Amino acid sequence: MVFLKFLTLVNLNLEVNREMDTKRLMPFEHALELLLEKTTPRNIAESAPLFEALGRVAFEDVRALVDQPPFDRSPLDGYAVDHRDIACACREAPVTLRVAESLAAGDVPAGAISRGEAVRVMTGSLLPQNATCVVRQEDTDQGDAFKKGFVRIFRSHGEYENYCVRGEDFRCGQILTRRGDRLDGVRLGLLAGQGQSSVKLFPRPSICVLSTGSELLAAGTPPEPGKIYDGNGVTLASRAREVGARVVPGVILRDDPRELAGAMERFLPECDLLVSTGGVSVGAFDCMPQAGEMMGAGRLFHGLALKPGGAAMALEKDGKLLLCLSGNPFAAYATFELLAVPVLRKLAGETAHLPSKVKAVMADDFDKPSEIRRFLRARIEGERVFVPKKGHSPGMLSSLVNCNCLIDIPAGTPRLGRGETVEAVLFAPGR
Ligand code: AMP
Ligand code: MG
Repeated sequence: MVFLKFLTLVNLNLEVNREMDTKRLMPFEHALELLLEKTTPRNIAESAPLFEALGRVAFEDVRALVDQPPFDRSPLDGYAVDHRDIACACREAPVTLRVAESLAAGDVPAGAISRGEAVRVMTGSLLPQNATCVVRQEDTDQGDAFKKGFVRIFRSHGEYENYCVRGEDFRCGQILTRRGDRLDGVRLGLLAGQGQSSVKLFPRPSICVLSTGSELLAAGTPPEPGKIYDGNGVTLASRAREVGARVVPGVILRDDPRELAGAMERFLPECDLLVSTGGVSVGAFDCMPQAGEMMGAGRLFHGLALKPGGAAMALEKDGKLLLCLSGNPFAAYATFELLAVPVLRKLAGETAHLPSKVKAVMADDFDKPSEIRRFLRARIEGERVFVPKKGHSPGMLSSLVNCNCLIDIPAGTPRLGRGETVEAVLFAPGR
């Protein structure tokens, strides 16, 4: 029985080996296109308070309902005047105006300014009618040095100098945020600024990460010889959360096709995207391809023309995608970034879901030749990109800690020298 099982695995491996024929490896862009073609956000609006909307995606265009600011206002503490009254004012010959009233921010003026009058205003005060400029208090005697109820102005001003016009930030009817925009504090601030307390959002996509490998132990359990702890589960789930996905807790699975197929069938209805790590390459116990067949999933690709993580496979079942990635922690991270993150972003309704690429200049040498296309972990700072001195194996995670991009090295590049321009895919831009 055990022998038969082994034979099945060997047969399967031969098949996988054929699949891994380098001529049949799919370019990354093609694979991503296939995945994105199959990805549609749920077209249902959810309403959420602004304080809970950070990182979510707007479901509809939002237009300004009001002008911002809603009234002409003072940008500083000083005196609102008619600029014609102070046309000749200078320090040697100040102009004296009667202070008609004093307004704090939030007060409403009792009346319009008459010629020869000033109104004491604070930053944010609604400006009285007929005021055409505001004099900084530093350009006056502040009203008490000369005569009570009067102020001396030391400088002339142009019309609308120090004057914030109603609607100068945005005008009523202007689009403040578009359907498909990811909401950050600034966009949310624009909505709050017009008195809006909630916003319509796309539903958050959900993801489940299954960690496969008979050598895996769950964190918190005692160590065992020959075994390692599952790191991928938490790394990928955390990255998914960074891009706004809801995480359905996954499990650790052994390298057994039946167990894998059963778990994938169980978890698929629970999430929008199912991701697994491990067991997708050409080793004797890499059973993911067989598990996919057992569960009757269609195969979109198996084997990509890239390193690391080129063994990646994509399946579809019941209108949902399953992404099976290599178990090597960096390979899993890189292919998750390149393939799963854009899918999650599109599922979330985000218009700008494609990876963001930038050009940068190599600050270090990278001597390893890249026969096939390679995505190299690195850190962009300004226009320069720094490559970690060591730790480039796909199984190593620690050198990824301070990285924020993947340098895209074309196939057939013998080496990269300091000063060369490269293209890089950005991730975790805040890092
Ligand atoms: P595989 O893709 O199954 O061939 O695994 C490649 C390497 O990644 C092996 O050294 C595994 O032990 C390791 N690995 C697989 N899954 C995980 C995981 N969840 N966390 C950390 N390492 C893993
Ligand atoms: Mg394995």
